[in-house]
Amino acid sequence: MSKVAIAKCQQYELEQVKTAIKNTLDHLGGLNQLIPQNAKVFIKINGLGPFSPSMGITTHPVFVQAIIQLVKTRTANILIGDNPATKEIHHVMKKNGVYDVVVQEQIPIFNGKTLTTIHNPSAKIYKTFEVSQEMLDTDVLINLPKLKTHSLTYVTIAQKNLFGFIYGLSKGGWHVKASNPLQFGEALNDLYGAILHAFKGKTLLHLCDGIIGLEGDGPSSAGHPKQAEVILASLDAVSLDRVAIELMHLNPEKAFVNTIAQERGYGEGHLKNITIVGEPLSTFQDLHFVPPGNTVSQFGLKLLKIKPLRNFVLEHPKIDHSLCIKCGECVRICSSKAMTIKARKFPELKKNLCIRCWCCAEVCPQNAIKKSKRPLVGRIVLKDRM
Ligand code: SF4
Ligand code: SF4
Repeated sequence: MSKVAIAKCQQYELEQVKTAIKNTLDHLGGLNQLIPQNAKVFIKINGLGPFSPSMGITTHPVFVQAIIQLVKTRTANILIGDNPATKEIHHVMKKNGVYDVVVQEQIPIFNGKTLTTIHNPSAKIYKTFEVSQEMLDTDVLINLPKLKTHSLTYVTIAQKNLFGFIYGLSKGGWHVKASNPLQFGEALNDLYGAILHAFKGKTLLHLCDGIIGLEGDGPSSAGHPKQAEVILASLDAVSLDRVAIELMHLNPEKAFVNTIAQERGYGEGHLKNITIVGEPLSTFQDLHFVPPGNTVSQFGLKLLKIKPLRNFVLEHPKIDHSLCIKCGECVRICSSKAMTIKARKFPELKKNLCIRCWCCAEVCPQNAIKKSKRPLVGRIVLKDRM
């Protein structure tokens, strides 16, 4: 049986967070068992972009400090980091408050630029991956995702946070090859399979910061912070995500990254086969996360494999000129070259080239990229049919 430990934690107060994290880890065997003495540990935060901690987008600095202090009781050999899509990790950490913690705790930050190749022989889309070597060159990887909804993948929790193994801007290119949501879900699982393979014999520990999560059109500034007061821990990202989806009162059928992982046998996704320890799910019976807007049913996702249909059925990015500061981040991240910008002008969208990956909205510091209204045909054919 796969195990997911849950703890309630009301606020980002260091001792409270430490106690809650420790409780979850005790249910998984305890720190001594999970982290061998003097082991090499990599702490992988969610460092999506330069957002303030109160926005619920990135791993909160107090959460990071709590885990660092716990890990320090076992080893001094700790490295921390992530691979943000557009900005350099030091810049991101300074904005989201983690940098001060890391300096205070004297933990080195990785640079991510040294790459190595990992493989997934049974992959469906990508068989090999260029990933940051330092994330692999470790005995224990502690993955610190946030509890969030996501416009493209419905939720982003433990499994999706490992997309950060891929270095910086090269993430955007994935969407071109895996250009509909289901293909992207397969590609993310190809990566996850390769990571599982590379970590055979080592420890992959997932510890989700859900004290303040994100609901609505996540995973970035278009979402809304959600006080959820929960911490989840597991050695199985698929189980953790499945339990989290239940706790958020979202529809598990729409969380296709998770369902694909279950089908491929990368983890346990059937609730009846997962042992939940610590706080029971019933504690969170009143917790309801708002799903991302205009999500697409399983039927719709299959339909979207037909590329020309997209312009007729899907919403597209729309720039709010009153918010846009013409920084060009959306243009830099767009691997499809659908977003262009001329000097001192607002970005413009070439709709035919847009694959609706929503990377532009994810990196926009101003939440200036909105969804257009879904076209009438889309409203008819993509409505929920599950
Ligand atoms: S839409 Fe956002 S990312 Fe694009 S130029 Fe404007 S502010 Fe920058
Ligand atoms: S414009 Fe935005 S949604 Fe469209 S392909 Fe580019 S990054 Fe993706």
